[in-house]
Amino acid sequence: MTKVLVATEKPFAKVAVEGIRKIVEQAGFELVLLEKYTDKADFIKAVADVDALIVRSDKVDAAVIEAASKLKVVVRAGAGYDNLDLAACTAKGIVAMNTPGQNSNAVAELAIGMMIFMARTQFNPGTGTEIKGKRLGIHAYGNVGKLVASHAKGFGMKIYAFDPFVKKEEMEKEGVTVVNSVEELYAVSDYLSLHIPANAETKKSIGYNLLTKMPKGATIINTARKEVIDEEGLVKAFEERPDLKYASDIMADNHAILIEKFGMRVFATSKKMGAETAEANINAGLASANQIVGLIKNGDKTFQVNK
Ligand code: NAD
Repeated sequence: MTKVLVATEKPFAKVAVEGIRKIVEQAGFELVLLEKYTDKADFIKAVADVDALIVRSDKVDAAVIEAASKLKVVVRAGAGYDNLDLAACTAKGIVAMNTPGQNSNAVAELAIGMMIFMARTQFNPGTGTEIKGKRLGIHAYGNVGKLVASHAKGFGMKIYAFDPFVKKEEMEKEGVTVVNSVEELYAVSDYLSLHIPANAETKKSIGYNLLTKMPKGATIINTARKEVIDEEGLVKAFEERPDLKYASDIMADNHAILIEKFGMRVFATSKKMGAETAEANINAGLASANQIVGLIKNGDKTFQVNK
């Protein structure tokens, strides 16, 4: 019987697991659960005889792929798929997929929440500012960026965006001012919301040069990935510019240093929580199960990321 493994160090909400089970069993497959595992060896053991795998932020590296002798498909329930070793998957003919768009609203709402949190002195006593009328730069106008823009418009923010892979007209018809370079975006943004994926091109790409271009009092909101930040460059920029602030959903490797040096100008969630809503869990979990059934039964590779 076709076996589908859900391997989640940080489990899905119960209701999402029930939904996944229903889809998998209705297709005539068997569901195997490995939740809250703490030893990588348990993951490697569990993957040995399964045909399909669903993960969240779990690392599917070469060792996992090597152990998965029957694996046909792995789905990352989420947007970013930098936790999958795509080359290892491709080498073994395994289809790797993500579930784009399924958790975008959860992340977008968190980005807006973080802007207000930073504008209002991290909910501590003191006089804050309003986000109404401020300029918001959206760095990458994908599923999350687009929703942040749309929600922020409701707060009366002025929206700017830079994404070289999205048609200018598409952004403009949504009331967004499109800028021609990443430098221009940072120069105009009182708030900068980061939504680029972490890849060879973008890793460590946000550092001293871009951050020091920002207007006085600017705040950077990072719900993308910590890897896109050049942390040393950020420290240097923040030392030079005592007006800048940084809030992140992915704690920087040098978070302790940032807090020690910059205190309340910096904030990070203690554990990545952008996609941690019941709705996002259900959307991404069910999409993963449906995509696996679609691939195994009908060869549907719509969301394949290792083409
Ligand atoms: P998406 O794939 O829909 O959008 C990514 C956008 O980035 C695309 O529009 C693409 O054109 C653009 N892009 C790629 N390279 C770029 C570059 N060099 N410069 C400018 N734009 C570039 O992804 P999404 O759903 O919007 O998610 C964005 C990122 O947020 C993901 O890659 C993921 O790492 C992160 N994310 C985090 C959480 C969380 O829990 N905090 C949850 C979901 C996604």
